[in-house]
Amino acid sequence: MAVAKRENHHRVLILGGGTAGISVAARLMRKIGDVDIAIVEPSDKHYYQPLWTLVGGGAAKKEDSVKDESSLIPTGVKWIKESAIDVKAEDNQVRLQSGRILSYDYLVIACGIQIDWDKIPGLPETLGQNGVCSNYSYDLVDKTWQFISHFQGGNAVFTQPSTPVKCGGAPQKIAYLAEEAFHASGVRERTNVFFCSANPSIFSVRKYANTLEKVLKRKRIDARFRTDLVAIDGAEHRATFKNVDDGSTFDLEFDLIHVTPPMSAPDFLKKSTVADSAGWVDVDRGTLQHKKFENVFSLGDCSNLPTSKTGAAIRKQSPVVVSNLVEVMQGRPAREQYDGYTSCPLVTGYNSLVLAEFDYELQPQETFPFDQSEERYSMYVFKRDILPQVYWYGMMKGLV
Ligand SMILES: Cc1cc2nc3c(=O)[nH]c(=O)nc-3n(C[C@H](O)[C@H](O)[C@H](O)COP(=O)(O)OP(=O)(O)OC[C@H]3O[C@@H](n4cnc5c(N)ncnc54)[C@H](O)[C@@H]3O)c2cc1C
Repeated sequence: MAVAKRENHHRVLILGGGTAGISVAARLMRKIGDVDIAIVEPSDKHYYQPLWTLVGGGAAKKEDSVKDESSLIPTGVKWIKESAIDVKAEDNQVRLQSGRILSYDYLVIACGIQIDWDKIPGLPETLGQNGVCSNYSYDLVDKTWQFISHFQGGNAVFTQPSTPVKCGGAPQKIAYLAEEAFHASGVRERTNVFFCSANPSIFSVRKYANTLEKVLKRKRIDARFRTDLVAIDGAEHRATFKNVDDGSTFDLEFDLIHVTPPMSAPDFLKKSTVADSAGWVDVDRGTLQHKKFENVFSLGDCSNLPTSKTGAAIRKQSPVVVSNLVEVMQGRPAREQYDGYTSCPLVTGYNSLVLAEFDYELQPQETFPFDQSEERYSMYVFKRDILPQVYWYGMMKGLV
């Protein structure tokens, strides 16, 4: 890469102004104040994506999940409204879409996960039509509720792919809400609900899986594990699944299908020197510092941290990144450790939720002094009314 001009140099450069990028910028400003920080972020809008489950289930408005990016960039932080297209960590440089080259002393990579709609043949052209919907896009999320609320019976199918996804619980949460909505609209008795997941079981942590298995049974949801959606024909209302163990395929007719699409690391990171062999940013799972480049950190969905990709995980990763970054800036080693904490508020109905919280070892790490594996109304209210406030006014301000 060519040499960056002086005005294109920043003490700390953050790629991505989503959950992780804003949280780190806000915390850094609080911790060390007078420091030159820039965020590279192409989008005008910032989304609180956890609300999309409730939007798809008709229990929230999608407009409540979005704010202007400009309102979240912390005061004193420079916003570079562009996309990064390459990272050359050996030269401390980042190339932008416009061709401009930025250089940095320290880099934080927080670009999120890429949704690979086109990895399912037939999916892009039928999304939002023919009963095919997905909560994984702001533009489409209200179609989910439109299709669920107008459903007249038949096969309602909910999928979970074999790739890592953001919020591993979201694919099943919408199935639970839909099933309850079908009761309310009087079509449940003429509906078959399928949950087709590439995973081997309903949840990776046994304590919560025990409850969710009962939920599946109570709701008479036909759960088919180790099945991965591989093609969809919208006009014919036909979905093709592959058995991930023996490679065989089978078709399922659908009247409604909620697709959780395959996801991967952003393409530009996959081919950069900061990526591991799968394309994720290769960081130490404790310190979140890059394994090769000491002045590079990463967190959130684009990192290779072996935990479930959630905003809740970022709430615990962000203080570790900031603390270690400041240590390294002062010539000391990164010492703060992240233990893999993540959380999944598993909505099991319109008034019930299992709040799963666990770490790298899949050991529960619960916040409340009661058994969180039980379905609770209080935890549903917590997700619906409290967590969005914690996000906008706590996490995005660098306070929690
Ligand atoms: C339907 C759904 C339900 C969910 N439910 C929950 C939940 O209940 N609880 C929970 O904790 N989490 C939940 N999540 C997951 C949570 O939203 C994500 O894990 C979290 O937002 C990830 O933060 P991030 O900063 O890594 O990525 P994001 O918040 O997605 O931000 C990435 C940012 O990087 C930007 N970017 C992308 N490419 C580039 C580039 N080339 N250059 C510069 N910038 C770039 C993007 O524009 C974006 O602003 C859910 C997500 C979905 C979709």
